[in-house]
Amino acid sequence: MSDDRLMVSVSGVRGTVGGTLTADVARDFGSAFAAMLGAGKTVTIGTDTRPSGPMIRQAVTDGLLAGGVNVVDLGVATTPGCALMTVQLRTDGGVIITASHNPSEYNGIKFLQPTGPGLLASQAAKLKAIWQAGDFAPAQTPGVPCHDESTDERHLAAVRAVVDVDAIAARKFKVVVDSINGAGCRVTPKLMALLGVELVHLNATPDGDFAHKPEPIAENLTGLCDAVREHGADAGFAQDPDADRLVVVDEAGTFIGEEYTLALAVDYVLSRTPGPVGTNLATSRMVDDLVARAGVKVFRSPTGEANVVETMLANGCVIGGEGNGGVIDPRVVLVRNSLIGMALLLEAMATTGDTVSQRVSRIPAYVMLKTKMPCPAGVVAEIADRTRELFAQTPGATFDTEDGLRVDLPGAWVSVRESNTEPILRVMAEAATRDEAQALLDAVSTIARGVVGD
Ligand code: MG
Repeated sequence: MSDDRLMVSVSGVRGTVGGTLTADVARDFGSAFAAMLGAGKTVTIGTDTRPSGPMIRQAVTDGLLAGGVNVVDLGVATTPGCALMTVQLRTDGGVIITASHNPSEYNGIKFLQPTGPGLLASQAAKLKAIWQAGDFAPAQTPGVPCHDESTDERHLAAVRAVVDVDAIAARKFKVVVDSINGAGCRVTPKLMALLGVELVHLNATPDGDFAHKPEPIAENLTGLCDAVREHGADAGFAQDPDADRLVVVDEAGTFIGEEYTLALAVDYVLSRTPGPVGTNLATSRMVDDLVARAGVKVFRSPTGEANVVETMLANGCVIGGEGNGGVIDPRVVLVRNSLIGMALLLEAMATTGDTVSQRVSRIPAYVMLKTKMPCPAGVVAEIADRTRELFAQTPGATFDTEDGLRVDLPGAWVSVRESNTEPILRVMAEAATRDEAQALLDAVSTIARGVVGD
């Protein structure tokens, strides 16, 4: 890519392997995390299946050990699996080596709190400052490494504890899952065996050779949709390379959109255990309609998974997540988790007798449109100002500036913000009709292009 910056943000570190993300950078971040935690502490570390994973993991581990921090190596693990191990082993933090849905030339380092989610903004800023200052020295006593291979077993036990395995198994479902040759390849068949589900597993080799672009969006998932039809499956699922995000295909092989993953989980969980819901400012209005129906409240945070989790904890949320296909069930682990997303939908189908499309039809439909464009650093404030001016006189308009700018209008919203993980600007709009959403998207995109100078 033309603008190859090492992104250091609340979401962790991300860059191109051998370009901006080298073994030296990875080791220094390991050393910086060790300095932040202190010698004598312990962290878990796992990687997705990218070929660069072992190299980055080794470099981060070297930095941690030199800084006196013990390292529990989980090998290949999903992001939710790594987070769950950090909690269950009561370590002082975690590290997952993944660039999530970014292409294979990228990799990244995500640092986890002892409770599972990524670092808070204040913690991420502290880590970045230590790294920038090179403010770390070898400890007198190096840390000790060890291995732990119980991630899948513990993760499945946590899922089993919260879903009705017998009810799901009784329906003898058939599902197709596309694991994109990523970290979900190993644990997903075990989950489906536990749930008594017949699995057709696509892209099931955990070698990081992504068979299609890894972002779980419609244009990348035509093979999954075809396979659902071909096998007469009850549902199709796609994971991203670190298996935190999940998208769903219905029994007719129709991709239903990533925003529905969370909405389906919210709808079902609220039907069983009504309670507050937590999500971010970029997630669909579907959630607002579902919480209104259930007589509960939604609490919204700035984008960034750690922010959503903070909001969920502060408000005692029973379910939460992000509209990018991220279901967070606090009973399992406080990160987005494709495994619980699949299990909850299958339980909803099993206990109600509904098909996927019948579950979808319960949810009020909106049209959400998104676009992105390259974004030089520091321009988002001006774009936000000009967008605010545009809507200043619109009746009923309210403005939220916690994360770029979100403009809420009667029955619609539009937002503009800078990505945490890539040097791009994201513009999103949602409304009851495509024309209305498109008009909002176009208006803000025009402002953004004017400022960026394209
Ligand atoms: Mg991911």
